[in-house]
Amino acid sequence: MADRYLSFTATAPGRFLTRRLGLPQPAALRRWSPEHPSLTGSLLHLTAGTTALDLAPVLARTGLPLDGSADPAAVVLDATGVRDVETLAEVHAALHPVVRSVAASGRVVVLGSPLDAAADDHHRAAVQQALEGFVRSLGKEIGRGRTVNLVRLTDASAAESTLRFLLSPRSAYVSGQVIGVGAEGPEGTVDWALPLAGRTALVTGGARGIGEAVAETLARDGAHVVVLDIPQAEADARRVAERLCGSALALDITAADAGERIAAELPDGIDVLIHNAGITRDRRLVNMPAERWGSVLDVNLASVLRTTDALLAKGALRTGGRIVATASIAGLAGNAGQTNYGASKAGIAGLVRSLAPRALAGHGVTVNAVAPGFIETKMTAAVPLFIREAGRRMNSLAQGGLPVDVAETTAWLAHPASGAVNGQVVRVCGQSLLGA
Ligand code: NAD
Repeated sequence: MADRYLSFTATAPGRFLTRRLGLPQPAALRRWSPEHPSLTGSLLHLTAGTTALDLAPVLARTGLPLDGSADPAAVVLDATGVRDVETLAEVHAALHPVVRSVAASGRVVVLGSPLDAAADDHHRAAVQQALEGFVRSLGKEIGRGRTVNLVRLTDASAAESTLRFLLSPRSAYVSGQVIGVGAEGPEGTVDWALPLAGRTALVTGGARGIGEAVAETLARDGAHVVVLDIPQAEADARRVAERLCGSALALDITAADAGERIAAELPDGIDVLIHNAGITRDRRLVNMPAERWGSVLDVNLASVLRTTDALLAKGALRTGGRIVATASIAGLAGNAGQTNYGASKAGIAGLVRSLAPRALAGHGVTVNAVAPGFIETKMTAAVPLFIREAGRRMNSLAQGGLPVDVAETTAWLAHPASGAVNGQVVRVCGQSLLGA
């Protein structure tokens, strides 16, 4: 379903009229394409407080010129050294003069320290937490398709894949996020052009919608993709798999032995496991029969727990493997008529946070989740007109995201160089006004 309002506001009369009426002003977002793989313009590197980060070599490798020219495409503010209210003022002093000049669809990335590093210093804890309110507020006011995110880190090279993602058109619909990155940098050389070459990725629910886009994006990054979907969707799964030179697997993920069957199907192991399959069966709790509750919890949460456990127990995930599950902002903010869906998706966040450290220690596998907001798919096209319009506009970018936005975020989490990103739930929601 095309976003006609977005097209209308891109015309001169549309812009004039909607401005006069005080209506939302969505800007067409610049997304990744082979012709335009990076942002256009320079990168401005600013600092607040005294920093210990060795950021310059990592920023130099993003490919964006660090020449300090006017109208930067991206600004990185290193605020890891902010320790008190006086040095917090340097955040204002650094960004106040430049924020207006950041190009349309540009990026502001603020770097902060991990909060546990400030656990015994309440002044430092206060101002490091203050960065979250700062970033989320700037994200809501900056406009023109620009995004603002906060990365908490201690080691710049461990965060290279994250910085490259946030400083590229791939992160077009990710804004207002706080992403924690650990200290372990990638081992060996990284192929930034084809990072998943020689790796196998399994995408559940890959026959259409977001799953199809994830399959496409992982294949673009070099993976052999296995498209898993229910037997009724086998023809679509085969069509997607053939296009991507991958393979299809017709399997209902709720089958009790789904994990065993996947492991049998892929005896050489899996590098990237994407739990994307999901369903909705909306009703208010008063009208919700147990069957609707059970089917949603089974597809969206129980099958994710079961197959993850089975595949980890069998050693089917290779060392350096990646698990990316799919939450939803409905699970973080709650949604009327979706007690079942909200519960299942909040459950994904709980699973990720608990399993992540153990899966990394025991199997060398990271576990993260994407939490999509309003994404333009068949699922959201079926939503009644006015609710759909509200869903599209109620975010800082004033538009719905595309399946590829979730796919790009998934590809960043699946990246071999993203081993230091673990236990994160990253919203792909254009900074939805719902939820935290
Ligand atoms: P979709 O309905 O278009 O696609 C879901 C796919 O999962 C389908 O191909 C379906 O056949 C498959 N599937 C369903 N049950 C399955 C099962 N038991 N076994 C195997 N495959 C199964 O949905 P979508 O909009 O692409 O959503 C993908 C994921 O993103 C879901 O987890 C959804 O909850 C989540 N999500 C979507 C949005 C959105 O705005 N579209 C927002 C938040 C979260």
